[in-house]
Amino acid sequence: MKTLLLLLTIVSIYQLQAQNNRMADGGGAYNMNQEYTECLSNEQRLIIRQQLNENINYLKSEGKINNNNSINGGNPVHPLFVWPVTKSVAAPYNNVWSISNHVDHNPNFPNALQDWNCGNRTYDTNGGYNHQGLDIFTWPFTLYQMDNNQAVVVAAADGIILLKSNGNFDRSCAFNNNNWNAVYIQHADGSESWYGHLKNGSLTTKIPGDFIAAGEYVGIVGSSGNSTAPHLHFEVYNSSGGLVDTYNGPCNSWSASNDTWWQNQKPYLDPKINAVLSHSAPPQFNSCPTTEVPNINNSFSNGSNVVLAIYLADQLANTSVNMVLRRPDNSIQSNWNFSLVNQFSASWWYWTFPAFEMTQQGIYQFTATYQGSSVTHNFMYGNLSVAENEITKFSITPNPARESFTIDFNDNSVIENVSLFDMLGKAVFQSNSSEKTISIAGLSKGVYSVKIVTQEGSFSSKIVKQ
Ligand SMILES: [Zn+2]
Repeated sequence: MKTLLLLLTIVSIYQLQAQNNRMADGGGAYNMNQEYTECLSNEQRLIIRQQLNENINYLKSEGKINNNNSINGGNPVHPLFVWPVTKSVAAPYNNVWSISNHVDHNPNFPNALQDWNCGNRTYDTNGGYNHQGLDIFTWPFTLYQMDNNQAVVVAAADGIILLKSNGNFDRSCAFNNNNWNAVYIQHADGSESWYGHLKNGSLTTKIPGDFIAAGEYVGIVGSSGNSTAPHLHFEVYNSSGGLVDTYNGPCNSWSASNDTWWQNQKPYLDPKINAVLSHSAPPQFNSCPTTEVPNINNSFSNGSNVVLAIYLADQLANTSVNMVLRRPDNSIQSNWNFSLVNQFSASWWYWTFPAFEMTQQGIYQFTATYQGSSVTHNFMYGNLSVAENEITKFSITPNPARESFTIDFNDNSVIENVSLFDMLGKAVFQSNSSEKTISIAGLSKGVYSVKIVTQEGSFSSKIVKQ
């Protein structure tokens, strides 16, 4: 018995060392600054409808859209949408959005809510407005994403631009009567998709009557009009002018039960890691309209503390997330689990690693795993060790670099091609020449992997862009 107890103790200590549960040093839920105001007032919607009808008549007379709304002779087949928000190429995240509100199917008000899945992820107002669209907000960081054009609105399906509204203030934080910046698209069957609250000046340069393809740039997520924080309000009408809830579910009685408007309808709760980042200090979440200070840092000098953070969308109650921090020599510095107690549409959590724990110099690798998906983020600590370059056949100078760097082989190797990958492993540069000097002026700051192919084989290194 004693032996068994001892064994159990050893096993549990071993497990603790292998995978600690570790409290976060801070973080919590992000609540979109939601004051439950109408994304669009009835008056504004009526004016938009009038403008749309005028443009539709004009575009018909010009032959730019069909005279008959339906291309299928009165039996319209509606489009199947792609997701209308995507990440800009330069954004250092895995994903840039979460959902705050669906369409409200309960005609009563106030506080009488029912979304397509019979939940209450929607809102209504005292004045009798039941939310008429899908609200997709930016996360992590909201105004910072807007300022840096990181959340891109794209056309959900092929269509013709009917109308654009631009020139309106785009940092709304509370109820107002401002007009929004928006793009309105008519699809082949006569249905329409509306993209509202866009950033001022960010709208597509295409004009009414122009064709726009599914996935093509529409604008940047902003907070223009009656909005409390940056988000896209996505509103859809069918070919008869009826409001559509694009989701198929048990409490959407507006469309046939097997009728979704999405190519791939996303689950009601869609837990995912939006970002895994390293910071010089915890990010500051300021009050709207002050932009957050993310304090993102991917290159730490010796003696610096390192703040590692995860940003989740649809954090589920009673789940846990696993984190692993690997040192430059690939040994595990820390492997820990963190328990998530509540359900949040957006959350963030961080851990601080003091400088004295950062015992190696080079590229550290931080991986978070949640609900079966892993996201890895690399960051540089200290200087690239001299030894690391000496053991290779080549040097990269300068490193860190601002504008460009040069690859020099110690022998007569000839470069065949050079590729650069960002921290998410995505190719950001490719050169198919023997050119030794590579321009990185257009890349954002951070650590990149360099892959150099010669006749002898391929070689890898890291470059820090400053
Ligand atoms: Zn909305």
